[in-house]
Amino acid sequence: MSLGKFSVGVIGAGIQGVCCGLFLIKKGFAVTLFDKDEPGDLSASYGNAGHFSPYASIPLNRPDILTDVPAMLISSTGPLALKWNYVPKMIPWFLKFIKNCSTKNMMHTAKYMHQILDLALPAYDELFEEIDVSELVEKKGIMYIWNDQNLKSRELEINIRDKIGAEQQLLNKQEIHDLEPNIKKVYHAGVFYKKARHARNPKKILLKLFDLFLKKGGKFEKQNVETINFDSSEKPIVKTNLNSYAFDKAIIACGAFSKKLTDQIDEKIPLDTERGYHIHFKDCDHLISRPVVFLNRGFGMTPMEQGLRVVGTVEFGGLDNPITKNRIKNLVNNAKFMLDGLPQHEDEWLGFRPTLPDYLPVIGPSKNYKNIFYSFGHHHLGWTLGAISGKIISGLVTKENTNLDLKPYSSLRFS
Ligand SMILES: Cc1cc2nc3c(=O)[nH]c(=O)nc-3n(C[C@H](O)[C@H](O)[C@H](O)COP(=O)(O)OP(=O)(O)OC[C@H]3O[C@@H](n4cnc5c(N)ncnc54)[C@H](O)[C@@H]3O)c2cc1C
Repeated sequence: MSLGKFSVGVIGAGIQGVCCGLFLIKKGFAVTLFDKDEPGDLSASYGNAGHFSPYASIPLNRPDILTDVPAMLISSTGPLALKWNYVPKMIPWFLKFIKNCSTKNMMHTAKYMHQILDLALPAYDELFEEIDVSELVEKKGIMYIWNDQNLKSRELEINIRDKIGAEQQLLNKQEIHDLEPNIKKVYHAGVFYKKARHARNPKKILLKLFDLFLKKGGKFEKQNVETINFDSSEKPIVKTNLNSYAFDKAIIACGAFSKKLTDQIDEKIPLDTERGYHIHFKDCDHLISRPVVFLNRGFGMTPMEQGLRVVGTVEFGGLDNPITKNRIKNLVNNAKFMLDGLPQHEDEWLGFRPTLPDYLPVIGPSKNYKNIFYSFGHHHLGWTLGAISGKIISGLVTKENTNLDLKPYSSLRFS
């Protein structure tokens, strides 16, 4: 049976949708990708910090976070912020999050994040074999630094990573200075993830993958998907602002916006967003050689083609609130705390991390409709997990056997 006869609609052309599209096309499906915008224009897949972080399996739902949150909210240099008008809407999410902060649930998330993170880079390499990313992907590792204040939290992470088997190298002050001599010596210690990589321009990589998708026969429709209906044999009919399209299968990969469609097909998944920001300091990418994250202030800097990209903040405030100018100011101040000689910043960007309260993504079939699949909710790691999630989805659609335990990613965990 030729799979070319089977059609799949993929909704969302962020890194998740594009990678799903590519792996499905490789399997012989006829794939149409939908996005309301041009791919990579404004999405999280455009503005992220560009880390490919296979080590990052320790989730934010951890017992010590609950005691740290009040101090983080009060601190003007801290990473956490709230839009107070959104707090009442987010209470159910917060309650579920708190429930997930037990040691047991943290370890469950860490184990199953590790399962897919460990396969993330090889899955990308399968796609990168077909495009030239030699100028766009750097293999210089990623460095995290901190000072004494939060050493205890760091010890917890380091111990769990050791337990899980994620490779890490502890750094003393001198070793940090040797790797990144321009960073001011405000740190006490650090950790280096040698195998991590970074993108010099996430948008360009996304567009190269998207072009490959088109070259292989994929179609793209720049349309907003409004509803999904079903014919008598439960095949999806995707209705956009312009047209209706019938498919054999459809994938919802709309990042933080996925909930609008999952609600519409009657599945209540507690997806919300952690808003994050970036700014660029043009022509300053030479100041560091690799991404550096300063954990005390919860922000990072990545050398990119656009300049030095400074990224951070977890702001709970939903999808509709405007940009918070204070968060931009916070990033500027933090960058200047770490580096001398930075000019006026450019490009103030707000993006939406798609986050479930247990910090596992949703990858798998829908509860109610056998021909609908989901790939969303990858929170801080959706860039890293693009290719592996697409690969898993293509295997699920074709009902392939797998050695992976995929149950923990199922949306059924919320029913
Ligand atoms: C500040 C910040 C820094 C980050 N840094 C990193 C990092 O360093 N490493 C990492 O691994 N991850 C990082 N992330 C997370 C990562 O960027 C996201 O998890 C990932 O990009 C999500 O990809 P996605 O394809 O699911 O969603 P998106 O990139 O948001 O794409 C979803 C697409 O769906 C489209 N869409 C939505 N609704 C509809 C509709 N109804 N019809 C048609 N189209 C629709 C949107 O237009 C959009 O293009 C970061 C995120 C942020 C915000």
